[in-house]
Amino acid sequence: TYVVTEDCIACKHMDCVEVCPVDCFYEGENMLVINSDECIDCGVCEPECPIDAIKSDSESGLESWVELNRKYARLW
Ligand code: SF4
Repeated sequence: TYVVTEDCIACKHMDCVEVCPVDCFYEGENMLVINSDECIDCGVCEPECPIDAIKSDSESGLESWVELNRKYARLW
């Protein structure tokens, strides 16, 4: 799945939301998040993000962002 990270905070671009084929972006407190249960891992959103805040969760060091995305997407 893909995950939204730090640089998204306070960003108001919505390009990622528009391209997602399954509408799995949700509003967090001050950033957007991806619902990992709904994300189909297509990768379309990643290059759309103007500030490079969307990463694949296969990258290391993103554990806390994965948790935060799940929390704001109300998966726990
Ligand atoms: Fe949506 Fe695809 Fe991005 Fe997942 S990888 S959030 S399905 S656009």
